[in-house]
Amino acid sequence: MHSRSVHWFRHDLRLRDNQALAAAAEADELIALFVLDDALLEGCRSGAPRVRFLLASLEQLAKDLEARGSRLVVRRGDPASEVARLLDETKADRLCFGRSYAPAALRRDERVRAVATKRGVRVVETRDHVVFESRDVLSQQDRPFAVFTPYRRAWLRAFEAEPQIPLRAPKLPPTPAGVDSLPLPPPPASPIELPVAGEAAAARRLSRFLERSVADYARSRDFPAEDATSRLSPHLRFGTISARSCVHLAREIAAIDPKAAKGANKWIDELLWREFYCAILKENPHVTRSSHRSEYDAIEWNDDEEGFRAWCEGRTGYPIVDAGMRQLATTGWMHNRVRMIAASFLTKDLLVDWRRGEEFFYRSLVDGDPASNNGGWQWAASTGTDAQPYFRIFNPVSQGERFDPAGRYVRRFVPELEDVDDRFVQRPWEAPSPPRDYPAPIVSHHERRIQALRRYEAARERGGRP
Ligand SMILES: Cc1cc2nc3c(=O)[nH]c(=O)nc-3n(C[C@H](O)[C@H](O)[C@H](O)COP(=O)(O)OP(=O)(O)OC[C@H]3O[C@@H](n4cnc5c(N)ncnc54)[C@H](O)[C@@H]3O)c2cc1C
Repeated sequence: MHSRSVHWFRHDLRLRDNQALAAAAEADELIALFVLDDALLEGCRSGAPRVRFLLASLEQLAKDLEARGSRLVVRRGDPASEVARLLDETKADRLCFGRSYAPAALRRDERVRAVATKRGVRVVETRDHVVFESRDVLSQQDRPFAVFTPYRRAWLRAFEAEPQIPLRAPKLPPTPAGVDSLPLPPPPASPIELPVAGEAAAARRLSRFLERSVADYARSRDFPAEDATSRLSPHLRFGTISARSCVHLAREIAAIDPKAAKGANKWIDELLWREFYCAILKENPHVTRSSHRSEYDAIEWNDDEEGFRAWCEGRTGYPIVDAGMRQLATTGWMHNRVRMIAASFLTKDLLVDWRRGEEFFYRSLVDGDPASNNGGWQWAASTGTDAQPYFRIFNPVSQGERFDPAGRYVRRFVPELEDVDDRFVQRPWEAPSPPRDYPAPIVSHHERRIQALRRYEAARERGGRP
């Protein structure tokens, strides 16, 4: 019997190593669908850099599909209504997609599944966004993990037992005639220069990273002035590369080049943090609104609009924080070490609710991801699972001096510090002649540290943890 399937692209904008696409490609005809959901394009949490990167990735995906005799069918609207309409129009008998894990996406997928099954359409859901899902890696008590180190151990054991070999791109059957598609909308204006989008660009970036940088990754990944990390996060976010391919190739390098093994294994650990936070979000959907550890819901936060604005605009007077926030504004990306320092500063020095920072990051980041962003913020705010202990508070000056000793990073984004001597570049207010056009610190770290400790301790007492 003649078969027809729909592959619904979401955060898997690639042809290679895409199990849902491979399942859909087994049919005689294939409709490769993307639904432009207004929540994605214009929702309160959408941001211009990420929408631009998404549209550029879709443009490239459309070209890649055409080169293989297929095409991208673009529709706009509510995904459940649009999928229902397409299934009615085309009489497709199979709907394939890779599973999502964020609460809003799970609700959406539930509705899409319902419209498909109501029409007697077979739904095929696959594991393409992560290597392992939350229930694939369980503790000895058969529970999902809440702490990273044992999770990592169990993950690696599971991988050894069931090595995940990435798939090749499937041969694509033709698209049925007469299926309408909308043009992609023009991208929103934004002055940010984005990384090159698309599957080929992601693969090139990965090869370059594995050839040039991975060997030294364990040492250099914490130094923001160095170009030492893969910068693959926007690609992993939209699935122009799979985490499976990344782990697979990094393990290959580790096996053939002993000098690169330490760095490659450290890099795999970072990919496992991504998997860990996806699992945490899937199993604990409340983290999108409240603290993972409920005792910290009682923290008294400051209503400090002026401080929040200064933080957003990179005018706190602490160079490493300001450089990070300006890197975010001008590139849509921020180095991981600096994300930790900036998030710590907002929550522990300004005592502003982590949810405000999380939202600001989410809107500003090209790689803004519900699971990793939430996990990173709750880690820095000490409210999350396996988070930074609340009493270990980053000092923005000593963090700067340790990870950017000559001020190469801060000077790149804060030109006001150009002429400040290296010794004072992370504490310019102590320089013999401080730069006139750079603000003095908006708060005293030492005072705020003591206040933060009091607030956290009070919350723990109220929450029943003396
Ligand atoms: C407050 C805060 C917010 C964050 N928000 C996001 C976010 O919205 N989206 C996002 O992808 N990452 C987020 N991260 C994690 C991390 O900062 C970025 O993934 C990393 O900086 C991306 O750069 P890279 O691709 O060069 O990373 P690499 O060092 O090359 O790491 C490879 C990949 O591993 C994953 N990864 C690395 N570190 C982490 C981590 N700590 N947690 C989860 N995954 C990680 C990413 O997918 C990354 O692309 C956040 C971290 C913090 C502290």
